[in-house]
Amino acid sequence: MNQVLWQTVLGEIEVSVSKAAFAAWFKETELNNDSTDEELIIGVKNIFTKQQLETKFDGQIRQILAKNSVHPRSIVYKINSDKKPSRSHDPVVNDFRSAKSITTNTQEQAENKFNPKYTLDSFVVGSNNDLAYTVAQAIVEKPGERYNPMFVYGSVGLGKTHLIQAIGSELQKQKPELNVHYTTTEAFIGKFMSYLRSKNKRDNFSDRYKNIDVLIMDDIQFIAGKETTEEAFFHIFNYLHQNNKQILISSDKPPKRISSLTDRLRSRLEWGMAIDIHMPDFETRCAILQSKALQAGFELEPDTIEFIASNIKTNVRELEGALNQLLAFCEMRGISPDKQIAEGIIGNVSRARPKHLTPKQIVSKVAYHFNVDVNDILSPKRDRNIMIPRQIAMYLMRSELHTSFPSIARELGRKDHTTAIHSVEKITKAIKLDYTIRENVADIREKLYV
Ligand code: ADP
Ligand code: MG
Repeated sequence: MNQVLWQTVLGEIEVSVSKAAFAAWFKETELNNDSTDEELIIGVKNIFTKQQLETKFDGQIRQILAKNSVHPRSIVYKINSDKKPSRSHDPVVNDFRSAKSITTNTQEQAENKFNPKYTLDSFVVGSNNDLAYTVAQAIVEKPGERYNPMFVYGSVGLGKTHLIQAIGSELQKQKPELNVHYTTTEAFIGKFMSYLRSKNKRDNFSDRYKNIDVLIMDDIQFIAGKETTEEAFFHIFNYLHQNNKQILISSDKPPKRISSLTDRLRSRLEWGMAIDIHMPDFETRCAILQSKALQAGFELEPDTIEFIASNIKTNVRELEGALNQLLAFCEMRGISPDKQIAEGIIGNVSRARPKHLTPKQIVSKVAYHFNVDVNDILSPKRDRNIMIPRQIAMYLMRSELHTSFPSIARELGRKDHTTAIHSVEKITKAIKLDYTIRENVADIREKLYV
């Protein structure tokens, strides 16, 4: 199998599907160099393309390959991690890209430029983030007073960058005399490294930050393990904090769970207000979709919104991605988005996912995650370090596979299914209240499908 053959496949598909469909699903696919005649690996740009190719076009692709005497045992559609921008000159694709209203900018600005879309007004408030929002408002009113530092944490795509940038740009707007400085931790590390490399250090690195009034540091978890950078940050932090300058920090986990962070910085980070943002509930997801669609100039029917909201439960970024995919698809074809089209594009993600998964795999992946023995999970042992993984395994069987309670009990070698009911309830509740459990479950859930 070589690139030429894949181009042949694309050529045939191009003439058999609509221009818009080709642009949306095939344009940016490529044959991965690790492909063999036995296993074909096709690089695709995102989960939606992957699903679409798997469910709708796999047969057609195989047919064309067969005509060219290639009979792969499997075709894997792999999401390219480095999303290259399309270089295509195809007018349809260019239309798609120039549709300014619906392009997403997932690349964070590294320093001092706020994404104009990230405002407090466009931040939809729900029970998942209302505390963070309230604190944000208080900080805009009186920076450096009560909540200092503000430490926002939660997993990827839940609005941390949006919120801290929104605070920054609002402060800049309302109090233009303040020197507001935003940086990703990666950019900060990069700056510090180049300072270290520079030959004649005329200044002290920390001094560069002394005239800042509001310091916003995004994704602080990346500083862990980089001791000298951490030390430089520590000094900056202390200086600003002592001078009542507002500090805003985001992270994918709470301070105590950022490993290899020095204790002194950790305790500083815990000084102020640590707030946890989690996944919005169904109603909030609907509100977010509604607001994003309006921003892009579309008004969607409630059933369309509800369909997307009930199928995308991973994070807000993916929720937005699904919406953008739908809007782009419709804009290209000049049709108005509705539930049916959404179904075609998004598919039923939650039902499509568990296909390849079995209860046994869940048990073994949970055991692996917690570094415990599968046999212990299946045993009657009641130690906490075994009980929690066991309950999480039951919970995942229920939530991912919709396994019945008696079957869950059987899978775990138990006669009575009331334990299964109890365990699932317990974890459902714990996910709402306990950050560690929530994160563990999210981690395992991700690993179930790879
Ligand atoms: P994080 O920094 O937590 O990974 P981001 O702040 O980059 O997440 O958010 C991902 C996307 O989701 C952004 O486009 C952001 O605007 C959007 N988003 C997240 N939460 C909300 C919200 N509550 N209201 C509106 N948009 C949101
Ligand atoms: Mg972020």
